[in-house]
Amino acid sequence: MPQRNDPYSTAPQDAHERERLENVHPGGWRNPQPAVRYSLAVVGAGTAGLVAAHAAAALGAKVTLIERDLLGGDCLNVGCVPSKTLIRTSHLYADMRNAEQYVAQTPANIRVDFPAVMQRMRGIRARISRADSVRRLIAAGVDVFFGQACFTGTDALTVDGAKLRFKKALIATGARPDTPSIPGLVEAGYLTNENVFDLTELPRRLLVIGGGPLGCELAQAFCRFGAQTIITQNWPLFLPKEERDAAQLLSDAFARDGIEVRLNTRAVNVRVEGGQKLVDLVSDDYKSTVAVDAILTGTGRVPNVEGMNLDAAGVDFDTTTGIRVDDFLQTSNRRIYAAGDACLEHKFTHTADASARIVVQNALFLGRQRLSALTIPWCTYTDPAIAHVGIYVRQARAQDIPVKTFTIPMHDVDRAIADGEEAGFVKIHVRERTDRILGATIVARHAGEMINEITLALVAGIGLRTLARVIHAYPTQAEAIKKAADAYNRTRLTPTIQSMLRRWLAW
Ligand SMILES: Cc1cc2nc3c(=O)[nH]c(=O)nc-3n(C[C@H](O)[C@H](O)[C@H](O)COP(=O)(O)OP(=O)(O)OC[C@H]3O[C@@H](n4cnc5c(N)ncnc54)[C@H](O)[C@@H]3O)c2cc1C
Repeated sequence: MPQRNDPYSTAPQDAHERERLENVHPGGWRNPQPAVRYSLAVVGAGTAGLVAAHAAAALGAKVTLIERDLLGGDCLNVGCVPSKTLIRTSHLYADMRNAEQYVAQTPANIRVDFPAVMQRMRGIRARISRADSVRRLIAAGVDVFFGQACFTGTDALTVDGAKLRFKKALIATGARPDTPSIPGLVEAGYLTNENVFDLTELPRRLLVIGGGPLGCELAQAFCRFGAQTIITQNWPLFLPKEERDAAQLLSDAFARDGIEVRLNTRAVNVRVEGGQKLVDLVSDDYKSTVAVDAILTGTGRVPNVEGMNLDAAGVDFDTTTGIRVDDFLQTSNRRIYAAGDACLEHKFTHTADASARIVVQNALFLGRQRLSALTIPWCTYTDPAIAHVGIYVRQARAQDIPVKTFTIPMHDVDRAIADGEEAGFVKIHVRERTDRILGATIVARHAGEMINEITLALVAGIGLRTLARVIHAYPTQAEAIKKAADAYNRTRLTPTIQSMLRRWLAW
């Protein structure tokens, strides 16, 4: 009988965990008898695999879904769901400490009950796991197999001793944390997203290595829970892909939170002494050593391409970039497609979902849907959050596209002032002398919600002129978008038009 592949889990096996496991990998599970041949065999039951399996089965395909560990993959179990749940609680603690800003009394003794925080997270994760459950898959007519899938040829694979034949297959095996090669790190022990959500005790002193989305989000959350937090980043700014002023605002926010920020800094060695972890840091010529109780790494993700015998399937791959796919998400084997983190540069749940939908259409219905046609927003859920969609100015310049940018600081937006959430801006880039939106960056407490309006505009080809005509409810922080559109409209008032208007009004 297949077992849950998680021997390191130290999370309390409470009622919430029992519910989650019952949903995503029930004890005593028996794999079904395989069908003669499946229309679609899906390997990996994270977001990409689940979306593809449900969509294909709903359209009448005979589908099998193979998962070696937990249905729901990273997002449900060790990614978006637990991290966003903890981030929400950490916001509350930050607000409580900041109560005087709202002339409320700061509670005398703000004590974070970390075990209770984690228990709430487990409860929410268990509840959300119902949507990814084996029960729902069975009800949809999907044959679920637990075990490691391994290809035996171009149209067959094995799992747990059973041979499954397929007309088409989808590889949706996701990614795992990259381990930085720092001498002594493995021996000292460290946390990644795969075990940090199992913690039952808050580390008193925490070092976060890596200033990407994962490192930034969790460093801020743990700091707000009361851990003395240091974050190191071997670049001059956090979130190096984002615009500089956005990343700078994040550094400022970290400093306000009390996070010790070490930019341009590399961790070069780890050792354990007297029960604490000593980490040597190097910044240019300056060397220092920090003593911490736990180390969390967030230094990138590597695709899961090993152990599947992809050579037998005739599927090309690269251990760094993942399964090689064309714009239709087809691999070097015309029967086999890939989706999600296993093959995409943008490793997000919504891209896993969107790419899986492309595969269902292209693999089963002779579709010609292209990955390059997708407009993909993203958001790092720090406080303030940083969201982006479309092109960056540096990319536009590299492509010789003339750009004009309209920026509205959040301190000019009534609702942000009223909310005491003035850090940030909305920046919309258009093609010069037109209202055609090329991209946008939003830094705001609710940037993740606000970016969707710009994404809609990009997808629907709506320009700033139209956005200026959209009535935005007052007062909302999203009014910043309308203000940017109004700023564009003002540029249409050329001196000639202004003088014509003056003459008209005088007459
Ligand atoms: C801490 C953290 C926070 C995140 N927060 C966000 C967020 O806020 N928003 C967002 O959009 N994205 C977020 N992400 C990214 C998001 O979780 C991933 O992009 C998404 O889960 C990818 O889905 P997937 O289906 O491609 O892969 P996965 O979810 O990784 O699923 C792949 C599945 O395949 C299985 N598998 C692998 N190999 C085999 C095999 N040979 N046989 C059988 N099964 C196999 C694995 O066990 C796994 O269950 C976050 C990630 C992390 C780590």
